[in-house]
Amino acid sequence: MRNITASDTAGIDPKELFDVSPYAHEMFRYFLRNPICQEMGRKFKISFSSSDDDTAFAFIHDLGFIPRIVDGKRGFKVMIGGGLGANPTLAQLAYEFLEEDQIIPLTEAVLRVFDRYGERNRRMKARMKFLLNDIGLEKLMALVQEERTALKNKSYKIDTNILPEPELPSIIVAEEVVIPNERKFQLWRETNVFEQKQKGFFGVYVKLPLGNMSSKLARQFADVIDLYASPEFRITVNQGYLLRYVRPEALKLLYLALDKLALAEPGFDSVADVTACPGTDSCNLGISDSVAISLELEKVVREEFPGLISNQDIKIKISGCPNSCGQHGLASIGLHGSTIKDKQGKMLPALVVLLGGGKLKGGEGIISDKIIKIPSKRGPQALRVLLGDYEENSVDGEYYHDYFKRVGRNHFYQLLKPLGDITSTVPDEYIDWGQDSNFILHTAVGECAGVMIDLISTLLNDSEDKLKWSKEAYDKKHFADSIYHSYSAFINTSKALLLSRDIKPSTQIQTILDFQREFVDTGSFEFSGSFKDYVLSINKNEPSDSFALSYLTESLKFLDEVSQYRSTVKEVMEK
Ligand code: SF4
Repeated sequence: MRNITASDTAGIDPKELFDVSPYAHEMFRYFLRNPICQEMGRKFKISFSSSDDDTAFAFIHDLGFIPRIVDGKRGFKVMIGGGLGANPTLAQLAYEFLEEDQIIPLTEAVLRVFDRYGERNRRMKARMKFLLNDIGLEKLMALVQEERTALKNKSYKIDTNILPEPELPSIIVAEEVVIPNERKFQLWRETNVFEQKQKGFFGVYVKLPLGNMSSKLARQFADVIDLYASPEFRITVNQGYLLRYVRPEALKLLYLALDKLALAEPGFDSVADVTACPGTDSCNLGISDSVAISLELEKVVREEFPGLISNQDIKIKISGCPNSCGQHGLASIGLHGSTIKDKQGKMLPALVVLLGGGKLKGGEGIISDKIIKIPSKRGPQALRVLLGDYEENSVDGEYYHDYFKRVGRNHFYQLLKPLGDITSTVPDEYIDWGQDSNFILHTAVGECAGVMIDLISTLLNDSEDKLKWSKEAYDKKHFADSIYHSYSAFINTSKALLLSRDIKPSTQIQTILDFQREFVDTGSFEFSGSFKDYVLSINKNEPSDSFALSYLTESLKFLDEVSQYRSTVKEVMEK
């Protein structure tokens, strides 16, 4: 399970109904090392937005929570099954309102379902969104409901005072401060500063090109924070920082101190604040550059469209490949790395242009539409064309995604079509941004693409470990944990024997069904009663002492018998 994220403004957001930070924190504590999410098919992402503005992007998370208060009770709107990647999917509404003490039980149940029914063999399909797509929301929620009996906690009260009170900066004695560039300061004030819900304190955003900061600069930055803000600051989703609890009389001093470090660039989260993944710089899956081009695009906005620097509606996002780590799939103007071949079959680095995506409110969003592929070196020109068109033809105050919808995809295709034409190319277009020689495609296994060592003996050894943990949990009276470890051992052990017949089920539930069919129903392996019913009795029983003990005993016996069976078969085969 990925770390749990929340809006950077959580706790100081003037629009929030309540602070979601303790909920995100407790969710992290509860599921860290929790047996139910240690070996899922793939990652699972959870976010908490501080308000209906959905600044934590509930709509692209496996589970997204947005605060609600109904009849004086705290709770959350819950979105499920969203995700970006090469197949962007909008999350669906699981609950309009779920009381606060139910969010952990719900998450636990969802994770159990994802663990059991989620794909494992085809890595690209091993996300919650595919399971939701395959079985539909109704069936998914019915499976979630079936897990209720077995949950460790049917209700879980979250301590909202668990986090320490914010540490406030010292009071600054007012003095006359001279700002050398008043215009830049005013723009910074307008785009990077907002008054917190705690009146008299300000949140200050720091824009950081590509999120890169040297350790030397980080130390100097830390000294500035110590002087003018609360020591707890937040890292933002668009690669910047949010300083909190700045006093009004410290704003000018903070601006000057940040400016000295080149950290007072106005236009935070605006069209001039381009987000990019590391792309070919450091990611094995990167196809073409996403880093150097993003700086070129920022230059175009700052130098040629200064009137748009405070526009926080248009977001430009770039990824080095279709996987969307740079979130191009939800950008107003998104780009992802690709390649294109000229008539002679020679390869050029390219960018796919996507438009019209964005965040709406309350967990809704729009996935951007693919428009055209262009050589990478034409990226800045494409941006000029797009921003020029928007400045000229949009009506006052029209959001970019509304403009996109109004004029339609074909309008943009026609606008950019000349840039996609590669009947005549120039030598520079064969060289990617940030490079000095012709482009060559290099991709390899991604850093997060785990290689599975799926040998039979490894699986059986793993089962032994799981049963050891099950016994330890049982001895500590952690019955739900013990049961889950025993369950995982059942799965691993049966998977090992299936593998010996070259059967590789893609989900846990399929492993159970295949084992029943291949070994138990055929009489190849003796299991008293139905193997399937016994293993799946995990969600028919309360996590009690007696069930935990009998489930552990059976799982131990099963491993022992499978190991013996395997030795006998091996002996026969060796003879
Ligand atoms: S996988 Fe693709 S999108 Fe993700 S970091 Fe690598 S290049 Fe960027």
